[in-house]
Amino acid sequence: MDVSIQPKHALSDKVEHFTESVIREMTRQAMLYSAVNLAQGFPDFPAPAEIKRQAQEAIAADVNQYAITWGAKNLRNAIARQVKHWQGVEVDPETQITVTCGSTEAMISTLLALCNKGDEIIIFEPFYENYGPDAILSGAKPVFVKLRPPANGDGEWIFDERELRAAIHNQTKAIILNSPNNPTGKVFTPTELELIRDLCVEFNVLAITDEIYEHIIYDGSRHTSIASLEGMAERSVTINGLSKTYSVTGWRVGWAVAPPNITNAIRKVHDFLTVGAPAPLQEAGAAALGLPPSYYESLAISYGARRDRLIPALTEAGFCCFRPRGAYYVMTDITAFGFPDDVAFTNYLVKELGVAAVPGSSFYHEPHDGAQQVRFAFCKRAETLDEAGKRLQRLLQLRRR
Ligand code: GLN
Repeated sequence: MDVSIQPKHALSDKVEHFTESVIREMTRQAMLYSAVNLAQGFPDFPAPAEIKRQAQEAIAADVNQYAITWGAKNLRNAIARQVKHWQGVEVDPETQITVTCGSTEAMISTLLALCNKGDEIIIFEPFYENYGPDAILSGAKPVFVKLRPPANGDGEWIFDERELRAAIHNQTKAIILNSPNNPTGKVFTPTELELIRDLCVEFNVLAITDEIYEHIIYDGSRHTSIASLEGMAERSVTINGLSKTYSVTGWRVGWAVAPPNITNAIRKVHDFLTVGAPAPLQEAGAAALGLPPSYYESLAISYGARRDRLIPALTEAGFCCFRPRGAYYVMTDITAFGFPDDVAFTNYLVKELGVAAVPGSSFYHEPHDGAQQVRFAFCKRAETLDEAGKRLQRLLQLRRR
């Protein structure tokens, strides 16, 4: 029997307009070719023992049925305490927090809750690939504002204020802000955040922020939530989660903090999308959020050391590295290798050298903008980074040819 779909049952137009995740595809390729996976951003080292124990205890104590749809009370209370502690922002856990299946669900639920067809959302690019399909699924039109790479690897990615201002129209609903940023490692400065705040207020636009790398930050930088700036608490949706801070990307626990009217709408969407995030892992999450400040300090220090381990190996192999200020990725320029594009290059890396990375084009709406860039994730053990570094040194022969 022919099981392919018949024309009268054609697929949703929405689905036709985006591809599968390139990041996840690169992980499958890494498995296929037994490559070192520096593509998808998940740690290859254990989560803290204490929070694993809390998850085990929660299951043993039969926290095995649905949590309240918008999140277990313990976890919402812990999130509110953290937001107050780190950002000085008061939020009411009863009316302003929605716990979701990862920050990925928080973002799509937020956009579905806010956007109507014709609404525009501003996205800085290069951008984390989910935001493109998120916009399409929610009916919003993405409008891109460029982050320009520094002339040398040590500088900052910057945007042009005039371009941002020009991108805002009557239909603009929100600016999506991801700081610390994936894939560039940019940490938006206080001055940049104030500028974005001023535009949000002037044009009555919301800020939807992805702050999942909040605690992974280097060189003495500090993370600032735009919601903590005057005039922004009432116009921000702040998204975060357990995944990166506690090395539990597979637990799928995230959240959105927003004013009560927006939270109501997000909760409705979330309820019918997923009902709720895993109940025992929410309890463990509440315990994780109670870890002492030293935990977050050593997290940032250990990631700084991983960054400083991978970058010299990449540089030696011929990459031009844009040094990240936060998050756990390094964007590189691959012009020196003379490949036609990033996809040809990452295919070569995974098949011939046994290292998986993400082609830069998957972070741009026009693929050619990323055609000479490749992203490496360094949330990996020292042995993994060293093995990748060793394999990549074979590129030197290629450059000499
Ligand atoms: N955020 C991670 C990355 O950019 C993982 C994404 C995912 O697969 N959910 O690699």
